[in-house]
Formats: sequence, structure tokens, C-alpha cells
Amino acid sequence: MKPVIVVHGGAGRIFKEREEGSRAGVARAALRGYGILKQGGSALDAVEEAVRSMEDDPHFNAGCGSVLNEKGEVEMDAIIMDGKTLDSGAVSAVKCIANPIKLARLVMEKTKHMLLTDRGAHLFARAMGIPETPGEKLITERSRERWKKNLEPDSNPEEFQKDLGTVGAVAIDSEGNVACATSTGGLSNKLIGRVGDTACIGSGGYADNHSGATSTTGHGESIMKVVLARLILYHMEQGLSPEMAADTALDYMKTRVGGLGGVIVVNNSGQWAARFSTKQMSWATVKDDQLHYGIYAGERHTKSVDEALTFESEGF
Ligand code: ASP
Repeated sequence: MKPVIVVHGGAGRIFKEREEGSRAGVARAALRGYGILKQGGSALDAVEEAVRSMEDDPHFNAGCGSVLNEKGEVEMDAIIMDGKTLDSGAVSAVKCIANPIKLARLVMEKTKHMLLTDRGAHLFARAMGIPETPGEKLITERSRERWKKNLEPDSNPEEFQKDLGTVGAVAIDSEGNVACATSTGGLSNKLIGRVGDTACIGSGGYADNHSGATSTTGHGESIMKVVLARLILYHMEQGLSPEMAADTALDYMKTRVGGLGGVIVVNNSGQWAARFSTKQMSWATVKDDQLHYGIYAGERHTKSVDEALTFESEGF
């Protein structure tokens, strides 16, 4: 099987001044994940690495750069899933952790459970030797500004949904195993303790070697109502291509509950899709040593991996 990775850096609206950084961030993440797959590494390792690279990138709403809750704190959700075994691990409402996706993977591999939240997740992180990162270090000037703006009495609640930047990855490796990973700071000014779609299996992501893998982004409560990730795999099980399955499920979410979002998909024969009903979604993929990436509907840049890696060392 030829390996494939697809990543997203969130669906919503990406402000002009952040477009270049978002394109570079998703391209870099896809190249990192592909590097692992090319050396015979697993889909699980590849999606974790790709997501970790975007958690460390302040352009995205995950890890450092996460949006803030109503009290001005970072609270993050993440999930990872192995399509071979259907094992998955997730964390929700975690603070002071630089890479929630790593913790989600440890939940999958080192516990009998699938989701740890808040205090329990922190106790587990400590037991696993994961260092605490002071919450302040995960907060960017931009996320604080936005939080403050949203607190203003005349702020537009629609702001909550703009400029989102949840991150995710799906991959198929040379053995034909698929995996997905998703990580987010959630919605800006959310209530303390709000758990979004990202941490919920079947909503924020799903992976099954029998059909494929998907990672979602967008309005979490809408995604949960239609269980978007599992719905896409259901459509693929009925014979639809990744692109048709993604469009059908996104259309359903829009018409049924008025929710917008975006998804990345790979099926078990290596076909992929990056689709969204929002104005924009940053995405990138690498297949056959070719990197493709874009932000707007219909936008697609292509570079060979070699060319892209040179580009990367020059800082994009
Ligand atoms: N789905 C995420 C959430 O609601 C937000 C996003 O994807 O941007 O927590």
C-alpha cells in the first residue's frame, strides 16, 4: 500500500494575515507525518506527529495558540484512534499540557479506558511523567485579545465560530492500517468544563481499517448531533468515495442542524478528500511524494516532497 497522509488546520474563517502561516503549518505537518510513513512507520505514529507539529504551532487552535474559555484559561480536547483494533484514547478539558494528543495516545495504550477528563487526566499525565506546562505559556496574545473582545457586551456571538483552527490528521500506512487524530482548544469563551466533539469518538474522528479514517472540525455541538466522523465512514461503507461521503455528511449537518464544518478523509484504498462547508479550511496532503495544500474552495498548490522540504528549511 502506498502511504497517504491528510491534515487540516481547522475550518472556519482564516484572516488574511494568518493565511500564509496556516498554509505553511499544515504543509509542514503533512511532511512530518509522511516522513514517518515513508520509513515504514505506522499510521498512528504519523497522525500523532502531524498533530503534535500543529499543536506546537501558535497559528492553530490546539496546544499553544488554543482559544480561551469564559475565565480566560486554556482547556483542550484531543482524540486518537487506531483503525486496526478500533482502540482509541481521548482527553478532555485538559490544561497545562503542551501536547494533548500525546496524552490521548497514552490513554489508549496505557489504560483500560478511552477518555479521561480534567483532574483525572492531569493525575494520569503526572503518573506518565508528562511535564506540566504553565497555562500562560499556551496563551498567545491573539487568543487573549479575542477572549477580551468576546466579553464585550456588544460582541457578536457569531465570533465564537470564526477563525477556528482545530487540527487533525488521517493516514494510511504501507501495511494498510488507517488512523486519525484531532486536537483543539475548542470554542472561544466556552463554558468551563465544556467538552466538544473532538474528544468524542465518532464525532471528532473515527478510524476503521474496513473503510477508512476521518478527522473533523467546525461547530462542535453540530458535529456531535450528527456524529459526523462515523457518518462519513457509514457513507463510505455504502460505496461512496471519500469526497462524496464527506460532501453528503457535511450537507446533512448543514440542512439538518444548521452546522458548518470541514473534514479530511482517507479510505482503505488510499483515496483521500479534504472538504468543507465553511468559507475556508487549511489542509494539506502527501501521496506519491507529492504535497498538495490549500485554504479556499478550489485552491490547490502542488509541490514535490523534495521541493517542499527545501522550501520548509527556508521557512516557507
Ligand atoms: N470542533 C471544535 C469544537 O467545537 C472547534 C473547531 O473545530 O474549530 O471544539
